[in-house]
Amino acid sequence: MKKLTMIIPCLNERGVLPAYYREMKRIRKELPVWMELLFVDDGSRDGTDSYIKKLAEKDPEVQYLLLTRNFGKEAAMYAGFCQADGDYIGVMDADLQDPPSLLPRMLRLLEEGKCDCVAVRREDREGEGFIRSLLSGGFYHLYNALTGMSLPEGTRDYRLMTREVKQAVTRVKDRTRFTKGLFEWLGFRVIYLPCRNTPRRKGKTKWSLHALYRYALDGIMCGLEELPFPSLFSGTLLILTAVARGLAGAFGAGHMGEKPSGSKKPGDFTWLLLLSDGLKHFTLGFQTLLLFNTYKETRRRPVYILRESSLQKKQTSPR
Ligand code: UDP
Ligand code: MG
Repeated sequence: MKKLTMIIPCLNERGVLPAYYREMKRIRKELPVWMELLFVDDGSRDGTDSYIKKLAEKDPEVQYLLLTRNFGKEAAMYAGFCQADGDYIGVMDADLQDPPSLLPRMLRLLEEGKCDCVAVRREDREGEGFIRSLLSGGFYHLYNALTGMSLPEGTRDYRLMTREVKQAVTRVKDRTRFTKGLFEWLGFRVIYLPCRNTPRRKGKTKWSLHALYRYALDGIMCGLEELPFPSLFSGTLLILTAVARGLAGAFGAGHMGEKPSGSKKPGDFTWLLLLSDGLKHFTLGFQTLLLFNTYKETRRRPVYILRESSLQKKQTSPR
């Protein structure tokens, strides 16, 4: 029988894990594979780690990785990818926002060989705050424009893949990771399944607006394939605007017998100065970000550190 390893990154999910575990055990009966749950505890402080360990003691289909501290969801998923050894690999959140009921259909698509990866995309943002929805929606457009990819809006980390895809994603050694974008970059055959937005069953989201902003910057840093040229673009735009303004002034003066309008009122160009300054700051900020990212990558620190794992202790499959 084939084995499916589900990677579940968890940060302070003690409240929701019993319900998650129950639902996964229920759906497991509909799957024609041996499903292993690989929980990755990302430095929880609410007893998530001891709960997972208890589950692993009584259930041979539960495995765990405990990280030494909170490294972030991306690092936790990467830890899971590095250690998972199923024929199929999946990732999903612990809070039941990724509906387990989709798993049989996702697995069927993989088994039929219709694709190498099945991803889930939420088609609405019901229940989410207005600002958060607006920013998230805008992010996908910006991300695709800057990276040249076509990541569908609302793509979740929830997905199933073949072992080949999992191996490919662990070959990418970037420190700044944006996994859903990486899957686009890898280029396998991906099918996106739509799903309705489901509210988190228990607990709170781990993403403040500030954390989301940093995540968005990391996403763009991770996805950039070509040298961005904001300063060249903004510089050209400003030069063209200044020339057009100058020409308009000179042309107006020739006709009306007046001085060029640019020199008539000193305040006329204030907007241009502001724009130019803003663009300079933006460009400088962007370049600093790129430089900082290069620094992070060249240090080559590990993406995560393991404190404990059940994988060495337990048999990992019934074969
Ligand atoms: N998560 C994690 N490490 C973090 C933040 C989140 O492992 O630093 C896990 C979290 O426990 C959950 C999943 O990532 O299983 C998604 O997090 P959350 O539900 O807070 O994100 P949202 O759905 O609000 O975007
Ligand atoms: Mg969630």
